[in-house]
Amino acid sequence: MQSTMGKMTGAVTQNKDLMKALAVIPGKPNTIHLREVPKPCVEDVPEGRGVLIKILSVGVDGTDKEINAAEYGAAPSGDDYLIIGHESFGRVESVGPNVTEFRPGDYVSLTVRRPGSSLYDQIGTYDMTTDDVYFERGINLRHGFLAEYAVDAPEYIVRVPENLKHVGVLMEPMSVAQKAIEQAYRIQQRLRVWKPKRAAVLGSGTLGLLATLVLRLRGLDVTTLGNTMPPYLNSTLIEELGARYVSTKELSLTDASTKYGPFDLILEGTGYSPLVFEAMNVLAKNGVLAMVSVTGGARQLEVPSDKINLGFVLGNKVAFGSVNANREYFETGVKDLSTAELQYPGWLQKLLTHPVKGLENYGEMIRLLTETKGAIKVYCQIAAANQSQVAAAG
Ligand code: BGC
Ligand code: ZN
Repeated sequence: MQSTMGKMTGAVTQNKDLMKALAVIPGKPNTIHLREVPKPCVEDVPEGRGVLIKILSVGVDGTDKEINAAEYGAAPSGDDYLIIGHESFGRVESVGPNVTEFRPGDYVSLTVRRPGSSLYDQIGTYDMTTDDVYFERGINLRHGFLAEYAVDAPEYIVRVPENLKHVGVLMEPMSVAQKAIEQAYRIQQRLRVWKPKRAAVLGSGTLGLLATLVLRLRGLDVTTLGNTMPPYLNSTLIEELGARYVSTKELSLTDASTKYGPFDLILEGTGYSPLVFEAMNVLAKNGVLAMVSVTGGARQLEVPSDKINLGFVLGNKVAFGSVNANREYFETGVKDLSTAELQYPGWLQKLLTHPVKGLENYGEMIRLLTETKGAIKVYCQIAAANQSQVAAAG
C-alpha cells in the first residue's frame, strides 16, 4: 500500500463542513486513501430538490478493484481524485423544500449513472445512453458513495422498505441483474409467445447468485456455472433456490447444455469473454443471450464463426449487451428482494459475507476484495442502520 494509507489528505474548503470519504487518484495504481472532503448539503441540488443521505453501507465489486488498480475510472473535472463506491444504501437525513418524494428517516439506494445528452438520457434511460462519455457515480467523472454523506435529486434515489434494510446494500447489483433479465424478456416479445423453460447463468458471484434468484422467481429451471468445485457456500446457496450448480472443472458449458439444456436464456457474467462464444454456440433455438461482463482487457480468440453464425440464422437467436440500470430496475429490484425474503427467508443475508467496519478500514476492505477466495459480498459499514430515527422524521 502506498504512503497515504492511514493519513488524512485533502484541502480544507472554507466555510464548509467536512466529511470522510474513500478516494483514489485515477491513473495511479493502489492509491485508495481516506480524505476529508466538503460535506454535501441539500442546497447543492437546484430548485430545492436536494435529498441529503447519510450513507449506511456501500458494497464493493470488481469495478472498484479495477479502479484502484488504475485500469478504469476517471475523476470529476476540476478534481484529481475520485470518491469511489457505487453500491449504496443509506437513510435520508434532510430534504429540500420542493422534495415530496422522501422524508427524513427513509431508507434509500441511489442509481449510479447520471444523464448525458442523448435522447435516451433525456427520458430517464441514461443506462441506454449513446453518448461516448458516460457519467457514473463512484466510477466515471462523478464522485461516489464511500463517504459519510451524499446528496442528489429524487429522480436518482429509490426507496428501500425498512424491512429490507439488512440487505439494502444489494440494491445496485440486483438492479444490474434485473435490467439484463427484463431486457431479455422484452426482446423476446418478438416471438409473440415465449415460454422459456431452462436458463443458464455463467458466473456464481454476487451477480450470478442474484440472477439465479431472479430467474427462479420467474419459475425457470436454472443451471448456474462457476469454476469452483462444490460444495462451497455459493453452490449451497444456488441449491437452496432449487437451482443446479455446475463446476466447469467437471462439466463444460457445452456438456452442461447437453445434460441440462438447451438453454432458452443464457446470462454471461463471468468476465471471461470466450464463454460468450461458447454460449452462442449452445443457445437454444429462438433463445436469447445476455452479456453483462465488463471486460477491459484485449483477449483474442479463434471461434467457429460459420457454425455460430449458422446456428444464429437458422435458430433465430439473439445476443445483446446490458450495462448499468436506471431507476425502473431498482424499483423491480426492491420487489424481487421483497419476494425473495418471503420465499427464501434469510437467503439474501447469506450473500453479505464480508462486512468491514468503518471507512478507516479501507486497507482491509481492499484486501478482502482482491485476495479472499470465498468472499461473496464485501461491503463497508459506514454507520449503523438501527440508530434512532433523525429528529425531523415525525
Ligand atoms: C456497475 C454498473 C456500471 C458498470 C460499468 C458496474 O460495476 O455496477 O453500474 O455501469 O460497472 O461502469
Ligand atoms: Zn458494480
